[in-house]
Amino acid sequence: MPQAEHDHLSLLYDIGELAVSMRANPDIPQLLNQVLEKVSEHLKAEVCSIYLYDEASRELVLKATKGLNPDAVEKVRMACGTGLVGATLEGMEPICEGDAPSNPRFKYFEEAREEAFRSFLAVPIQLGEMRIGVMVVEHSEPNYFDAGDVRALRAVATQLAGVLENARLVMNLKGLDGAVARGETLAPGFVKGQAASPGIAYGPAVVFDRSHVRLLEKAGAFAGTEEDFHRAMALTNHQLEKLQERIAERLPESAALIFSAHFMILKDVQFTGRILDLIRGGVPATQAVREVAQHYINLFGASTNAYLQDKVKDIEDLAGRILKNLAGQSWDDQGLYERQVVIAPALYPSEVLKFAAEGVAGIVLTSGGVSSHVSILARSLSLPLIIAGYTGLLSVAQDTPVLMDADLGNVYINPDREIVTRFEVRNQARQTASAHAQTMLPETRTKDGQRVYLRANINLLSELETAVKLKAEGIGLYRTEFPFLIRTAFPSEEDEYKVYRRLCEEMPGGVVTLRTLDIGGDKLPAYWENTGEPNPQLGLRSIRFSLSHLEQFRQQLRAILRAGAATKALRIMFPMIMSMDEFQQVRGIMDDILRALADEGIPHHASPSLGVMIEVPAVVEIIDDLAKAADFLSIGTNDLVQYLLGVDRMNALVAYAYRPEHPAVLRTLKRLSDAARRAAKELSVCGEMANDRDLMPFLLGIGIECLSVDPHHLPGLQRRIGAITSAGARAYAERMLAEPSLEGVHAVMGSDLHPLKNFLKEDAG
Ligand code: PEP
Ligand code: MG
Repeated sequence: MPQAEHDHLSLLYDIGELAVSMRANPDIPQLLNQVLEKVSEHLKAEVCSIYLYDEASRELVLKATKGLNPDAVEKVRMACGTGLVGATLEGMEPICEGDAPSNPRFKYFEEAREEAFRSFLAVPIQLGEMRIGVMVVEHSEPNYFDAGDVRALRAVATQLAGVLENARLVMNLKGLDGAVARGETLAPGFVKGQAASPGIAYGPAVVFDRSHVRLLEKAGAFAGTEEDFHRAMALTNHQLEKLQERIAERLPESAALIFSAHFMILKDVQFTGRILDLIRGGVPATQAVREVAQHYINLFGASTNAYLQDKVKDIEDLAGRILKNLAGQSWDDQGLYERQVVIAPALYPSEVLKFAAEGVAGIVLTSGGVSSHVSILARSLSLPLIIAGYTGLLSVAQDTPVLMDADLGNVYINPDREIVTRFEVRNQARQTASAHAQTMLPETRTKDGQRVYLRANINLLSELETAVKLKAEGIGLYRTEFPFLIRTAFPSEEDEYKVYRRLCEEMPGGVVTLRTLDIGGDKLPAYWENTGEPNPQLGLRSIRFSLSHLEQFRQQLRAILRAGAATKALRIMFPMIMSMDEFQQVRGIMDDILRALADEGIPHHASPSLGVMIEVPAVVEIIDDLAKAADFLSIGTNDLVQYLLGVDRMNALVAYAYRPEHPAVLRTLKRLSDAARRAAKELSVCGEMANDRDLMPFLLGIGIECLSVDPHHLPGLQRRIGAITSAGARAYAERMLAEPSLEGVHAVMGSDLHPLKNFLKEDAG
């Protein structure tokens, strides 16, 4: 059978479309049937079947078939290694037989009635190192399938792996009986969301709302004497100090600030005085704590000041701790949310930091976007985060076991043992994947030797160690705003200097790129009066904020220049620049500061490189001029996509329209790359696109050589780049640029032109 007769390209296109549509509205049995339909149609196969691996019984189970006896579904089962199907899973390699029954490993299943089929092709379905199942096509004609079919079926399996993994887990859920509801909730107990920060978490649920009553209501019976109260206070103080010490290792820049309000209230004589008055008046200690805490909660909660409102949660947390200690519950110096899964409608970045500090296992939000800063922060903290737009999750009963698969965006409420076991296995696979980190080379090159510079995006100082260990060639983006979102007020120059100095010292020799404060939009610190802007993403954000708060801006630039005094390649970049005028204004301010520091005789870096972040479409039209004026350029694709397409990166309702692969985005990137080359200025990409499996090869193909990504992505990215040739990347990019529609771009992404088409063994990062 000549290969041309099998329409591989449109098969991949169809499957890609199917997988994408299933992600939005999953109906697993329908998906399996449609996949079988498409594959058998395109490969003209008489049989097409999908087997999924059941971890509990360690068997492959026939889950759907077209061509075999439909009664065999769920009945045909085989151990890994048994028969040709089992051998495919065991070896994790395709098996293509021109005359299957003559192969000694062939196993005949009476229920399936497959003896009439001679040609047999099976490919493993895998997600990273993990076995998911096997996909099989058969035909009665001998030697029917060829190498092209193997490649096509492999690509189909890759595209479907994530969706099929969901299928497998959902079908395993007890009591489901294959009936799967449409919509976000696949079934009671399973909710499909978006993966915002990878990882796996399993723990009791705690629904975090701002009604501030649950914890206080939960506290035990009315009891306790004055002595009990003093003991509980001392214990609470001790626990908080221990907790703070522990957090200092993870969040050195803000550890001391996380519980500052707790300590303040704990030591407040009015707070303790009021409680003691009540106790001395005959009120049991627990009731006294509850009453006084409630009084402050009401008082602060009624304030219109965002900062004071934010403190309500701190009072509630603190009161909860005291009450727990009064009740004599043993919990050492654990965080209040230790190993729990927090479900919340939305969170501030400062709240995410607090949860991380309190040892939370994972977070599920019912609103937001994966490229929002809360998601970015969660990734920096290695804290699993899922955004599931299903508000029903907020009604999950307290302490219900919840399993989060934040690699795929799945939330399992009350999962059974089988599912939990499966995730334990999966966790081991992740650890194997992280062993790849050892293989990281100091330089990154394409298969044909083209040099690519990989740098790290740093949000928290704790990530520096990973970046250095993984041989990042410097810092491509340091988001200066993150450490300060937790603070109670704007930091002083000295506070800023200390943080930046650590950054510069710990990345010796490499490029260090600090981005000035990108506050506003979805990143509002609690101490900043929320002005209620109607469109915060289009409002007083980023450089606009800095230029309208010049004192803070100057202070930050001084702190950076002082901290980088000994740094060879100190670079400062400015977010959301929209005009030459704005950039020239920034340069002017910088010149003034450099003069002032020199006059004051303060050691500082005298000639930092100044860069523009390309995030606003307006600069594309003036890019040649801007490229001449700037020392370097960096594309913030997260925002550029948002503004180019007019799609809020935070809004789950329009997440489907947030498409980095939109032809307008691709063509814009090409124009930017050409302009940078004409001006001989470095151009990097520091948005999420730099690590996108389908779009990174495009970036290389249009001549971008510097990528900056979250540190833990570095090994995977290096390996993928090593599998690409420059010519392959160029051809891929050219084809993509020729496509005017998303549909066309998707077809190229699913085609043989994709430089990573056969690159299956992705690591978890
Ligand atoms: C971007 O917009 O791509 C970017 C890197 O900046 P941030 O995500 O912090 O807005
Ligand atoms: Mg940005």
